[in-house]
Amino acid sequence: MQHDYDILIAGGGLAGNCLALALKDSGLKIAIIEAQTPQQLKQSPAGDRALALAAGTVNMLETMHIWQGIETATAIKQIHISDRGHFGKTRLSAKQQGVAALGYVISARDIETHVAALVEQAGIPRFCPARVVGLMAGNDAIHVSLKQNQQPLNLSAALLVGADGGNSSVRKLLEIPQHVTDYGQTALVTTVHSAKPHANTAYERFTESGPLALLPTQNNHLSVVWTRQHDDADALMAGGEADFLAQLQDCFGYKLGLLKLSSPRRAFPLTLIRAERMIDNRVVLIGNAVHQLHPVAGQGFNLGLRDVVQLAELLHSQPDPGTPEVLQHYAEQRRADHDKTIQFTDTTVKIFSNRWLALAAIRNAGLTVLDHLPFAKKQLARHAMGMADRLPRIGSKR
Ligand SMILES: Cc1cc2nc3c(=O)[nH]c(=O)nc-3n(C[C@H](O)[C@H](O)[C@H](O)COP(=O)(O)OP(=O)(O)OC[C@H]3O[C@@H](n4cnc5c(N)ncnc54)[C@H](O)[C@@H]3O)c2cc1C
Repeated sequence: MQHDYDILIAGGGLAGNCLALALKDSGLKIAIIEAQTPQQLKQSPAGDRALALAAGTVNMLETMHIWQGIETATAIKQIHISDRGHFGKTRLSAKQQGVAALGYVISARDIETHVAALVEQAGIPRFCPARVVGLMAGNDAIHVSLKQNQQPLNLSAALLVGADGGNSSVRKLLEIPQHVTDYGQTALVTTVHSAKPHANTAYERFTESGPLALLPTQNNHLSVVWTRQHDDADALMAGGEADFLAQLQDCFGYKLGLLKLSSPRRAFPLTLIRAERMIDNRVVLIGNAVHQLHPVAGQGFNLGLRDVVQLAELLHSQPDPGTPEVLQHYAEQRRADHDKTIQFTDTTVKIFSNRWLALAAIRNAGLTVLDHLPFAKKQLARHAMGMADRLPRIGSKR
């Protein structure tokens, strides 16, 4: 059967664009459908969030020739994990683990625009701005209806990849049920400058009111991800910058001296969304479209990129990329990593946002014990570096 494309990718965010780049030399005919113009993407307040990328993720991006040319990433050389008001703390260091960096921090906007530019350079066709508004799957093809500049357009493909984010239209059009956990929390995101050098240290501080992460960025700035209950977050957003900064400083302490706000505050309400299944007739969901996580453990895009790598590896060798066998194989390969990463993130949120004193004592004892156990620390470091799971190289022979 003749299709317009072998693979249509709905969503040109990080997951969709990285998949297109991973498949660019596969011989498959690919196109991307993206709702936002490059200008809208550049101006989106959501681009202000910083992403902590595990060393394993950066290795994968290097293998895919995506990381090369990125100039604004900051290496994480140490991770300092502590519990406010309690004694427990642990530290991980790249030196102890024998690696150059435990991970890297980059603004979402910088990596998104870099990846989008590579897609353009590679000449991968894009329908943009265009939205997927309808789907109809047959045995041999999927028919996709778009709205491009308010005009309808119909395309067909052997496979549709839904990479259209946490609010995925593809998932909704297929009526795939989703499990939603509302943590009742909002992530407040901003940037600070610290009086003392951050020395490439990432801080994760668990507090009674929620976790606070300070991630090192360029020129001694740190990107702040401060998770608070919705009401507290609303009050912190409604108050003045001076009040916000005073509360932030109180929560973090003075290890880095005085902090100064250096970018606007943004608020992201947090929910865990997991689609009940990741495949349908000639459709596969990847990235946030299938799993949107709480950012506490910084796993969202790290997990999404592992979807990309595994799917690209599988599709490279397929004459028909949308058969039930191919999609079933993909789903079986990905399930364990999804289960493990979602459970790790969900447990971290629940244990470390809990005010119950006994639990606080256990987690403190845990952090202190961990600090004295080199093997356990190595395991934690491997998790932080995204090395726990080994993935095949794209295009390699199986
Ligand atoms: C505060 C915060 C901090 C985070 N920190 C980290 C971190 O430290 N480390 C980490 O790994 N992850 C982190 N994440 C998660 C990370 O940002 C996401 O996992 C990642 O950006 C998801 O990429 P995606 O391509 O799957 O989805 P998205 O980035 O949402 O991209 C989806 C794309 O699809 C397009 N689209 C939507 N609907 C349609 C449609 N109908 N038709 C066509 N196109 C459509 C959208 O315009 C968008 O471009 C964080 C998230 C937040 C909110």
